[in-house]
Amino acid sequence: MKYNFSDFLKEHNQVILEDFIDKYTSCIHYKIDEKLPLTPEYYKKILHILSMPFHEDKLLDAFEALAHYKVSCAIPYVIVANEIYGLKTILIAKMSQHTTHMQIVALLELIKKINDKVAFIYLHTYADKLISSNNVRISSLSDLVEKHIITHYESHLTWLNKLAFLIKNGQKEDFVELDDTLCDFGLWLHTKGKKVIHNNSKYKSIQKLHESLHLFAKKIYDHIGTNEHHILINYLEKCELISLGIGTELALIDNILMNKRIIKDALTGALNRQALENVFESQYELSLATHSPFILAMCDLDFFKNINDTYGHIAGDKVLTYFVQVVKQNIRNSDIIIRYGGEEFIILLPAINKEKGLFVLEKIRKSFQEMPLVIENATIHATVSIGMMDINPEHLYKKSFVENYLVLADRALYNAKENGRNRIESFCL
Ligand code: GH3
Ligand code: MG
Ligand code: MG
Repeated sequence: MKYNFSDFLKEHNQVILEDFIDKYTSCIHYKIDEKLPLTPEYYKKILHILSMPFHEDKLLDAFEALAHYKVSCAIPYVIVANEIYGLKTILIAKMSQHTTHMQIVALLELIKKINDKVAFIYLHTYADKLISSNNVRISSLSDLVEKHIITHYESHLTWLNKLAFLIKNGQKEDFVELDDTLCDFGLWLHTKGKKVIHNNSKYKSIQKLHESLHLFAKKIYDHIGTNEHHILINYLEKCELISLGIGTELALIDNILMNKRIIKDALTGALNRQALENVFESQYELSLATHSPFILAMCDLDFFKNINDTYGHIAGDKVLTYFVQVVKQNIRNSDIIIRYGGEEFIILLPAINKEKGLFVLEKIRKSFQEMPLVIENATIHATVSIGMMDINPEHLYKKSFVENYLVLADRALYNAKENGRNRIESFCL
């Protein structure tokens, strides 16, 4: 179909573009690949097409290029939809003063085709990406040295992959199990899972997440074959988010169980250093499988030799035990503390970002400083220096070993000592 808005758009083109870029293209300065033009350049081309008689395919091709660019920058669908909506609003506002009703109707139909095309591209690319990142997650889980309840998450990821595949192909036959008590994961969750997940509130929150996930899957089923790609992509995005939430909850429960199981350091009750390699690798794989970063922190008590020299070795031992107590008071029961050696400890905080991790560690540092240990005949003031790093395996191309990360956290700890002790320094990758 051919369109012609040239009479009006020739003179207004520049004004429209400036107006539009001003109000709507929020990601215009984001450039991921030097070879690709920025968003405004795509829109310049689009407005250029609109300013002379054109065939709809030409305009749809221009939006297709824009959609591919946006997807490559990982810009969410809702942002692009909002841009198209903005362009529509501006065009109609300006056109209504100069053009006929017919032309406006034609423009609205054209915008609908554009929306459909962009949503279709987004949906297909998103489904492909979801399938490939789920495959990485599944292989991360099968790499786990110790397999616990998180293993059951694998069956759930396989279910989600099938759902993405069916959406992509517009297929309703041989659909995924829609009943949340009958899919493989649901069967486990409602029987053995209920017994293994002792923590009742965690069980309920997983069950709720799983239930709502299946509700979205039902909505997806209803919309398949209707060409409503924008609805399908929104539901699929929701399904992925909920799935990651379920994975994170399961991983945290695994940590709680592990904390109970692993042999502790006899003096302080922290986990033993021997467990470090396994614990770290599990954390790394789980983080990859659940798309959540984690924190590695290396702690070293300050001037500990002086404490031993002043108060004696037994008092020094009490300070070490006290430090672990203070840490445990400030962390979740799914967080981990390991005695690395002497007066050095490692803390792992799963499913937490850098800001929140820093907040938790700062609470530990401050509490330890402000609450001295009172023993029979002395009050012992002690402090701790901490080197932390946030690890996001998805940003790293290659799996790495715990030693490599410890070297980096240790570098941050060294800076904390150099910069005056009783402080936290972080290392950024
Ligand atoms: P810095 O602030 O630089 O870390 O100084 P520091 O004195 O803490 O560091 P240094 O490495 O010189 O001393 C650590 C001391 O920790 C020496 C060692 O005797 C003591 N230590 C190691 N393990 C234990 C233990 O299990 N119990 C007691 N009481 N002391 C220990
Ligand atoms: Mg030390
Ligand atoms: Mg020390």
